Amino acid sequence: MAIIKTEHLSHVYSEGTPFEKVAVGDVSLEIEQGAFVGVIGHTGSGKSTLIQHFNGLLKPTSGKIMVDGKDIWAEENKKNIRNVRFQVGLVFQYPEYQLFEETVYKDIAFGPGNMGLSEEEIHTRVSEAMEFVGLKEKYAQKSPFDLSGGQKRRVAIAGVIAMRPKVLILDEPTAGLDPKGRDKILGQIREYHQQTQSTILLVSHSMEDIAKYAGKVLVMNHAGVFDYDTVERVFSRSAELTRMGLSVPQVSRVFERLSSEGLSVSQNVYTVEQ
Ligand code: ADP
Repeated sequence: MAIIKTEHLSHVYSEGTPFEKVAVGDVSLEIEQGAFVGVIGHTGSGKSTLIQHFNGLLKPTSGKIMVDGKDIWAEENKKNIRNVRFQVGLVFQYPEYQLFEETVYKDIAFGPGNMGLSEEEIHTRVSEAMEFVGLKEKYAQKSPFDLSGGQKRRVAIAGVIAMRPKVLILDEPTAGLDPKGRDKILGQIREYHQQTQSTILLVSHSMEDIAKYAGKVLVMNHAGVFDYDTVERVFSRSAELTRMGLSVPQVSRVFERLSSEGLSVSQNVYTVEQ
């Protein structure tokens, strides 16, 4: 079952002006519930524009976007567009710049607070989200501005996780972090995926990270979908990706390393071998 489906979706910025730009053109795509999808493509290929349609932040210039089977901009649904934003959580690049509350707790509680939940339920969700991103309880009453860069980012991710979205979209969540911080955050996202069976979309420039964590890869090129397939199949067509300027890790090398870590690639998820 497709959790996200687009039909001939296009997005044109500044339409009808000399600055008109087709950022996404005629994209028809189905993302299966529970998939872990890596999203790649050169800068300006339309990745950010496309993903902002998945939670209703951008409205298509033409075409449709369905979330969980519902056309979100259909007359009868568009008044509930807020609910789509709870269902599909979007973590922007450098999300720590969006922290604004005086404590970590309040920042993470902000999203669930807008969902009309009880204080008790909000508390449960904040604790759960903090645990998911590996933030100890002692941080709850600290100011987010006193934390390290990696910790701030975790607070921002926890704020989205606390809404328990069915789909979690992360735009370059590890940008600017050191390798240790990077592995930690990606490991936690993988664990979140495995435990909640939610759908993950991870936009990344790192092909190594995509190969390690994603089961499927969506390749954007010049405002369109160039490829959407399993990580093995997409990376085995590496000559085409290289032509687009995307450096693809040697597939065999990546898979060898994964197997040395006790991981194997299946259709959608990595499973730990028994
Ligand atoms: P990516 O995320 O792959 O880098 P984007 O979706 O950000 O790609 O951008 C796709 C194209 O749309 C680029 O040419 C970019 O310059 C243009 N674009 C992005 N946002 C805007 C905007 N707000 N106004 C006008 N053009 C934009």
